[in-house]
Amino acid sequence: MVNGSNFQIEQQCPQCGAPIILDEADRILSCKFCRTRVYLAAEDIFRFYIPPAEGLSETIYFIPYWRIKGLSYTIKEKDMNRERQNSLFSYSISSTIRTIDISNKYFDINFLSLDSKLLPHSLGLRPQAMKLKFVGSNESEGKFLKFSPTLRDNFINDYQTRTGGIHKEIFIGETASVIYSPVYCANNRVYDALLKKPLDLQKRDVEIEQTLISATDEKWHVEFLPLLCPDCGADLPGEKDALIVFCDNCHTAWNPSNKNFIRVKYCAWREAKDDNITYLPFWQLKVKIAGFPLETYADLIKVNSSKEKKKKIIFSRKCLRLLKYL
Ligand SMILES: [Zn+2]
Ligand SMILES: [Zn+2]
Repeated sequence: MVNGSNFQIEQQCPQCGAPIILDEADRILSCKFCRTRVYLAAEDIFRFYIPPAEGLSETIYFIPYWRIKGLSYTIKEKDMNRERQNSLFSYSISSTIRTIDISNKYFDINFLSLDSKLLPHSLGLRPQAMKLKFVGSNESEGKFLKFSPTLRDNFINDYQTRTGGIHKEIFIGETASVIYSPVYCANNRVYDALLKKPLDLQKRDVEIEQTLISATDEKWHVEFLPLLCPDCGADLPGEKDALIVFCDNCHTAWNPSNKNFIRVKYCAWREAKDDNITYLPFWQLKVKIAGFPLETYADLIKVNSSKEKKKKIIFSRKCLRLLKYL
């Protein structure tokens, strides 16, 4: 269930049909044969499937699994309570954060996104061993069952509860996608469509077959956006996993991730007379915190030199809450 590597996706070039292997984090598809470059975009999350074995004539049903990879931050407040009794609210921002005790853990899991106790709860290592495909790349592949976003939230909540003694768990996702695994029905059994072996469903195959037949179908396909600047029409260069692309011609920046290009404001450090400059990207976020004035650096100092401890605690909690929305 826990693994540490990216999956590979097999995709045909939308222009010439040449086979291309992508990493799951790749967003730019470049074809070395016809030199096409397109941006891979999705309205919400990417959906992949594990191709079934060849030569099957039965209807293939694709079972959805959540794939989640990222960092999980755990906040414990035990120390802070002790500190609160002892120090009579006289600590600064840095000591406030220290007493909250934040730890992080790498998260890399996949789990069933259907409400069923009988179907396999995880894909195990299978997605690493196989080349995946984008859902919608082959119209006649079969029926893709609709996944449940609620199950993903429930899973993360359960995980937090199981790990005990935690005040709050914040998950910052690096990847959240859905991977479909194929099954088919024959001789009153439900078969794994890769191994062509019946699943162990505790003799409730007919019940599962009914669930598969009556489930809602998921329609989706990846969008290919031409990598041309919407302002001046110039080619947009970029690394294959770029989330923002820059136009060298008209000096604009674009976020192509949500099915079309949205202009992004950016600024860069003034360059010295040196050609060897590498620019590292940083997100700049504007946030609003309600409850007390915090517009300037002076406000920040005022809040933290104040004897009103309650306000300081609110401040640090708000900051942590912000992490959730990054
Ligand atoms: Zn091509
Ligand atoms: Zn341009």
